[in-house]
Amino acid sequence: MLELQGVRSGYGAVNILQGVSLKVGEGEVVALLGPNGAGKTTTLRTISALLRPQAGSITFQGQAIGRARPEGVVRQGIAHCPEERKVWPRMTVAENLELGAYTVSDRAMIRARMEEVFESFPVLRERRTEYAGRLSGGQQQMLAVGRALMSAPKLLLLDEPSLGLSPVLMQQVAGIIRAVHARGVSVLLVEQNISLALSLASRAYVLSSGRVVADSPTRALKADKALLQAYLGG
Ligand code: ATP
Repeated sequence: MLELQGVRSGYGAVNILQGVSLKVGEGEVVALLGPNGAGKTTTLRTISALLRPQAGSITFQGQAIGRARPEGVVRQGIAHCPEERKVWPRMTVAENLELGAYTVSDRAMIRARMEEVFESFPVLRERRTEYAGRLSGGQQQMLAVGRALMSAPKLLLLDEPSLGLSPVLMQQVAGIIRAVHARGVSVLLVEQNISLALSLASRAYVLSSGRVVADSPTRALKADKALLQAYLGG
Protein backbone atom coordinates (compact mmCIF):
# COMPACT_ATOMS: atom_id res chain seq x y z
CA MET A 1 0.00 0.00 0.00
CA LEU A 2 2.75 2.45 1.04
CA GLU A 3 6.29 1.97 -0.18
CA LEU A 4 9.39 4.09 0.39
CA GLN A 5 12.46 3.28 -1.69
CA GLY A 6 15.83 4.84 -0.88
CA VAL A 7 14.30 8.03 0.52
CA ARG A 8 16.69 10.82 1.45
CA SER A 9 15.21 13.78 3.21
CA GLY A 10 16.00 16.41 5.80
CA TYR A 11 15.92 20.06 6.68
CA GLY A 12 17.56 22.43 4.22
CA ALA A 13 21.08 21.23 3.58
CA VAL A 14 20.94 18.82 6.53
CA ASN A 15 20.23 15.30 5.33
CA ILE A 16 18.56 13.20 8.01
CA LEU A 17 17.16 10.18 6.15
CA GLN A 18 20.00 8.41 4.37
CA GLY A 19 18.05 6.19 2.00
CA VAL A 20 15.08 4.77 3.88
CA SER A 21 13.11 1.90 2.37
CA LEU A 22 10.01 0.54 4.04
CA LYS A 23 6.56 -0.84 3.29
CA VAL A 24 3.16 -0.81 4.96
CA GLY A 25 0.67 -3.36 3.64
CA GLU A 26 -3.10 -3.11 3.43
CA GLY A 27 -4.64 -3.41 6.91
CA GLU A 28 -1.24 -3.63 8.61
CA VAL A 29 -0.03 -1.93 11.78
CA VAL A 30 3.71 -1.30 11.39
CA ALA A 31 5.92 0.23 14.07
CA LEU A 32 8.79 2.58 13.32
CA LEU A 33 11.21 2.47 16.25
CA GLY A 34 14.63 3.86 17.05
CA PRO A 35 16.55 6.15 19.37
CA ASN A 36 15.94 9.89 19.70
CA GLY A 37 16.98 11.76 16.60
CA ALA A 38 17.00 8.62 14.43
CA GLY A 39 14.66 10.27 11.92
CA LYS A 40 11.28 8.74 12.76
CA THR A 41 9.38 12.05 12.77
CA THR A 42 11.29 13.11 9.66
CA THR A 43 10.09 9.93 7.93
CA LEU A 44 6.44 10.68 8.74
CA ARG A 45 6.82 14.32 7.68
CA THR A 46 8.35 13.23 4.40
CA ILE A 47 5.51 10.77 3.69
CA SER A 48 2.91 13.47 4.34
CA ALA A 49 4.82 15.90 2.07
CA LEU A 50 5.65 18.40 4.80
CA LEU A 51 9.23 17.69 3.70
CA ARG A 52 10.23 17.01 0.12
CA PRO A 53 12.46 13.99 -0.47
CA GLN A 54 15.81 14.85 -2.06
CA ALA A 55 16.05 11.36 -3.54
CA GLY A 56 14.17 8.09 -3.65
CA SER A 57 10.52 7.33 -4.30
CA ILE A 58 7.34 7.20 -2.26
CA THR A 59 4.34 5.37 -3.68
CA PHE A 60 0.90 4.92 -2.20
CA GLN A 61 -1.52 2.45 -3.76
CA GLY A 62 0.66 2.35 -6.83
CA GLN A 63 0.81 6.13 -7.30
CA ALA A 64 3.94 8.22 -6.85
CA ILE A 65 3.32 10.79 -4.10
CA GLY A 66 6.90 11.98 -3.48
CA ARG A 67 6.23 15.23 -5.33
CA ALA A 68 2.67 15.76 -4.11
CA ARG A 69 1.56 18.65 -1.88
CA PRO A 70 0.40 17.92 1.68
CA GLU A 71 -3.31 18.29 0.84
CA GLY A 72 -2.80 16.03 -2.17
CA VAL A 73 -1.41 13.34 0.13
CA VAL A 74 -4.44 13.73 2.44
CA ARG A 75 -6.76 13.39 -0.57
CA GLN A 76 -4.95 10.20 -1.57
CA GLY A 77 -5.88 8.74 1.82
CA ILE A 78 -3.01 9.40 4.21
CA ALA A 79 -3.62 11.27 7.47
CA HIS A 80 -0.89 12.41 9.86
CA CYS A 81 -1.41 12.70 13.58
CA PRO A 82 1.63 14.70 14.73
CA GLU A 83 3.67 14.49 17.91
CA GLU A 84 2.38 16.24 21.05
CA ARG A 85 -1.19 16.00 19.75
CA LYS A 86 -1.40 19.64 18.66
CA VAL A 87 -5.15 20.06 18.98
CA TRP A 88 -6.29 23.68 18.81
CA PRO A 89 -7.01 24.45 22.48
CA ARG A 90 -9.18 27.55 21.91
CA MET A 91 -11.46 25.81 19.44
CA THR A 92 -14.21 23.40 20.36
CA VAL A 93 -13.96 19.66 19.97
CA ALA A 94 -16.37 19.80 16.99
CA GLU A 95 -14.39 22.62 15.34
CA ASN A 96 -11.16 20.65 15.73
CA LEU A 97 -12.80 17.67 14.06
CA GLU A 98 -14.14 19.79 11.20
CA LEU A 99 -10.65 21.06 10.50
CA GLY A 100 -9.57 17.47 9.96
CA ALA A 101 -11.98 17.38 7.01
CA TYR A 102 -10.50 20.45 5.33
CA THR A 103 -10.23 18.61 2.03
CA VAL A 104 -13.99 17.83 2.08
CA SER A 105 -16.57 20.45 1.06
CA ASP A 106 -19.71 18.27 1.35
CA ARG A 107 -21.32 19.24 4.71
CA ALA A 108 -23.39 16.05 4.88
CA MET A 109 -20.24 13.98 4.49
CA ILE A 110 -18.49 15.96 7.22
CA ARG A 111 -21.44 15.35 9.55
CA ALA A 112 -21.48 11.64 8.74
CA ARG A 113 -17.77 11.30 9.42
CA MET A 114 -18.06 13.22 12.68
CA GLU A 115 -20.83 10.81 13.66
CA GLU A 116 -18.47 7.87 12.99
CA VAL A 117 -15.78 9.47 15.13
CA PHE A 118 -18.32 10.00 17.94
CA GLU A 119 -19.26 6.33 17.70
CA SER A 120 -15.63 5.32 18.18
CA PHE A 121 -15.01 7.92 20.92
CA PRO A 122 -18.31 8.70 22.69
CA VAL A 123 -16.65 11.10 25.14
CA LEU A 124 -15.93 13.45 22.24
CA ARG A 125 -19.65 13.65 21.51
CA GLU A 126 -20.37 14.53 25.15
CA ARG A 127 -17.75 17.28 25.07
CA ARG A 128 -18.18 18.48 21.48
CA THR A 129 -19.03 22.08 22.40
CA GLU A 130 -16.16 22.47 24.89
CA TYR A 131 -12.77 23.96 24.16
CA ALA A 132 -10.28 21.23 23.25
CA GLY A 133 -7.83 22.73 25.76
CA ARG A 134 -10.15 21.63 28.56
CA LEU A 135 -9.93 17.94 27.68
CA SER A 136 -7.65 15.55 29.57
CA GLY A 137 -4.45 14.33 27.90
CA GLY A 138 -6.05 11.06 26.84
CA GLN A 139 -9.12 12.83 25.48
CA GLN A 140 -6.93 15.24 23.52
CA GLN A 141 -5.19 12.22 22.03
CA MET A 142 -8.59 10.79 21.05
CA LEU A 143 -9.44 14.14 19.49
CA ALA A 144 -6.16 14.25 17.56
CA VAL A 145 -6.79 10.76 16.19
CA GLY A 146 -10.46 11.57 15.54
CA ARG A 147 -9.43 14.70 13.64
CA ALA A 148 -7.07 12.62 11.49
CA LEU A 149 -9.90 10.15 10.81
CA MET A 150 -12.13 12.97 9.51
CA SER A 151 -10.29 12.77 6.19
CA ALA A 152 -11.35 9.08 5.97
CA PRO A 153 -7.75 7.88 5.62
CA LYS A 154 -6.67 4.47 4.40
CA LEU A 155 -3.36 4.96 6.20
CA LEU A 156 -2.82 6.77 9.49
CA LEU A 157 0.64 8.08 10.44
CA LEU A 158 0.80 8.27 14.22
CA ASP A 159 3.69 10.07 15.91
CA GLU A 160 4.29 9.17 19.56
CA PRO A 161 0.64 8.86 20.59
CA SER A 162 1.48 7.76 24.14
CA LEU A 163 3.90 10.64 24.85
CA GLY A 164 3.32 12.13 28.30
CA LEU A 165 0.39 9.88 29.15
CA SER A 166 -0.09 7.86 32.33
CA PRO A 167 -0.09 4.03 32.05
CA VAL A 168 -3.89 4.02 32.22
CA LEU A 169 -4.18 6.55 29.39
CA MET A 170 -1.57 4.63 27.41
CA GLN A 171 -3.85 1.62 27.53
CA GLN A 172 -6.67 3.87 26.29
CA VAL A 173 -4.49 4.99 23.41
CA ALA A 174 -3.72 1.35 22.61
CA GLY A 175 -7.49 0.78 22.50
CA ILE A 176 -7.87 3.73 20.13
CA ILE A 177 -5.24 2.31 17.77
CA ARG A 178 -6.89 -1.12 17.85
CA ALA A 179 -10.25 0.54 17.09
CA VAL A 180 -8.75 2.41 14.14
CA HIS A 181 -7.19 -0.80 12.85
CA ALA A 182 -10.53 -2.60 13.26
CA ARG A 183 -12.04 0.00 10.91
CA GLY A 184 -9.67 -1.30 8.24
CA VAL A 185 -7.21 1.59 8.44
CA SER A 186 -3.50 0.77 8.13
CA VAL A 187 -1.21 2.41 10.68
CA LEU A 188 2.43 3.46 10.66
CA LEU A 189 3.22 3.99 14.33
CA VAL A 190 6.18 5.90 15.77
CA GLU A 191 6.41 5.12 19.46
CA GLN A 192 9.01 5.51 22.23
CA ASN A 193 7.17 2.97 24.34
CA ILE A 194 8.60 -0.14 22.74
CA SER A 195 6.44 -2.68 24.53
CA LEU A 196 3.30 -0.73 23.59
CA ALA A 197 4.42 -0.55 19.97
CA LEU A 198 5.32 -4.23 19.84
CA SER A 199 1.95 -5.18 21.34
CA LEU A 200 0.11 -3.31 18.58
CA ALA A 201 2.19 -3.86 15.46
CA SER A 202 2.73 -7.02 13.48
CA ARG A 203 5.98 -5.75 11.98
CA ALA A 204 8.58 -3.20 12.97
CA TYR A 205 11.38 -1.23 11.42
CA VAL A 206 14.25 0.06 13.52
CA LEU A 207 15.77 3.31 12.37
CA SER A 208 19.17 4.57 13.49
CA SER A 209 20.94 7.69 12.19
CA GLY A 210 18.56 7.89 9.26
CA ARG A 211 18.97 4.27 8.16
CA VAL A 212 16.82 1.19 8.57
CA VAL A 213 18.92 -1.21 10.65
CA ALA A 214 16.24 -3.86 11.21
CA ASP A 215 13.01 -4.95 9.62
CA SER A 216 11.28 -7.86 11.26
CA PRO A 217 8.02 -9.31 12.56
CA THR A 218 7.46 -7.98 16.09
CA ARG A 219 7.58 -11.51 17.50
CA ALA A 220 11.15 -11.96 16.21
CA LEU A 221 12.14 -8.48 17.35
CA LYS A 222 10.93 -9.15 20.90
CA ALA A 223 13.26 -12.16 21.06
CA ASP A 224 16.26 -10.28 19.65
CA LYS A 225 17.76 -9.04 22.89
CA ALA A 226 21.00 -7.83 21.27
CA LEU A 227 19.11 -5.63 18.81
CA LEU A 228 16.78 -4.27 21.47
CA GLN A 229 19.78 -3.48 23.66
CA ALA A 230 21.76 -1.85 20.86
CA TYR A 231 19.11 0.45 19.47
CA LEU A 232 16.19 0.59 21.82
CA GLY A 233 17.76 0.61 25.26
CA GLY A 234 16.96 -2.98 26.19
P1 ATP B 1 12.57 11.95 18.50
O1 ATP B 1 12.08 10.76 19.21
O2 ATP B 1 13.63 12.69 19.26
O3 ATP B 1 11.50 12.82 17.92
P2 ATP B 1 13.06 11.12 15.78
O4 ATP B 1 13.61 9.79 15.41
O5 ATP B 1 11.63 11.37 15.51
O6 ATP B 1 13.41 11.34 17.28
P3 ATP B 1 13.53 13.37 14.14
O7 ATP B 1 12.59 14.28 14.87
O8 ATP B 1 13.12 12.85 12.83
O9 ATP B 1 13.95 12.18 15.06
O10 ATP B 1 14.89 14.15 14.01
C1 ATP B 1 16.01 13.65 13.31
C2 ATP B 1 17.09 14.69 13.31
O11 ATP B 1 16.62 15.85 12.62
C3 ATP B 1 17.53 15.18 14.67
O12 ATP B 1 18.94 15.25 14.67
C4 ATP B 1 16.94 16.54 14.80
O13 ATP B 1 17.74 17.38 15.57
C5 ATP B 1 16.87 17.02 13.37
N1 ATP B 1 15.76 17.95 13.15
C6 ATP B 1 14.48 17.77 13.49
N2 ATP B 1 13.70 18.81 13.12
C7 ATP B 1 14.54 19.69 12.53
C8 ATP B 1 14.36 20.98 11.94
N3 ATP B 1 13.16 21.57 11.87
N4 ATP B 1 15.46 21.58 11.44
C9 ATP B 1 16.69 21.00 11.48
N5 ATP B 1 16.91 19.79 12.03
C10 ATP B 1 15.87 19.14 12.55
